[in-house]
This record gives sequence, C-alpha cells and structure tokens, in this order.
Amino acid sequence: MRTTQGRTIWRLIGCAFGNSLKKGADPPYIDVQYERVRAKMTEIIDPQAQRGEAWLSKADVRPTRQRIALATLLVGDGYDRHVTAESLFAAVCDAGEKVSLATVYNTLRVFCAAGLMQEVTVDGSRSYFDTNMAEHPHFFWEKSGELTDAPATELEITRLPEPPAGMEIASVDVVIRLRAKSN
Ligand SMILES: [Zn+2]
Repeated sequence: MRTTQGRTIWRLIGCAFGNSLKKGADPPYIDVQYERVRAKMTEIIDPQAQRGEAWLSKADVRPTRQRIALATLLVGDGYDRHVTAESLFAAVCDAGEKVSLATVYNTLRVFCAAGLMQEVTVDGSRSYFDTNMAEHPHFFWEKSGELTDAPATELEITRLPEPPAGMEIASVDVVIRLRAKSN
C-alpha cells in the first residue's frame, strides 16, 4: 500500500517536473496555453461581440472584422434596434472602428439580403434598418426622426385593396407618424 502511494507521489512529481521542463523547452506549448486563456478572456470580457458574431453565423454571413463590429452594435446587447446608415456610422466611429459610410450602407444591405434585418422606408426615401424581423407596425417620431416599434397586437388590418392585374402584394409597411399634440 505504502509502496503504491510512494510510486504515485513520485509519478506526480515526475509529471510536474516533466511539464515544467516541457514549458521551458517548448515555447509553442506556452503559446497554445496563452491562446486558450486569451480566447477565454475575450469570451468573458466581450459577450456582446460574441452575440454579434453568432448573429452573423446563423445567416452564414462571413464574419469580417467590420461586419462583427457593426453586428455587435446592432444586436450585441440582445435588444432589437432601428438604425439609419448615418446613425450606425456615427456609432461605429464612436466605437473607434474605421469604417466608411458607404461600407456601413453596403453592410446593412448585406444583412437585409441575408434575412437578418428588414428595411423600412419612410417618406419614400429615408431608409431605416430594423433587426426585428417579425411583421410589425412602426411609430415615426416626426420631430426627432426616430423610428420605434408600435404594439403589433393593437393593429388590425381587415382589408387591403386588390393589387393591380399581374401584381401581388410583397409587403405592407405600417408607419404611424407622431407629432406633439397642438393644444
Ligand atoms: Zn421595428
């Protein structure tokens, strides 16, 4: 019994000694360990970027550095968001990422094409991009130019006009414009 324990102890000491020798003699071993620790730290420190990356991967969008940065700003906190290319551009600049407005705009188009976002047009020209993919109405705040979700359960559309011959309805956008009461 004693002999077995003694052997076990020696084996443990041998392992520890062997490992320290291995660490000293083989820097790549340490690098691998370091990479593992660093990856773990990134996971702990930046769960928002992780969420952004997961969001891209669910639609098979190639996760470039810029796309991850934008995705993190869009869905990193787990909430849905309505942005314009300009507002997202301002946010990404604040975050210290170097991206052009054209790239932001093109990336939003890529996200829409991949089914990650939908575009809502107000006034026929102003584009908002929404991470909420469910069909829902919007409030458009005329003074601030902000677009927010309106409660879908309170909307009832009982009838739509017949589309012209040879056409079908692609989608129905409901944008309710808001302004402060005048009285
Ligand atoms: Zn929305």
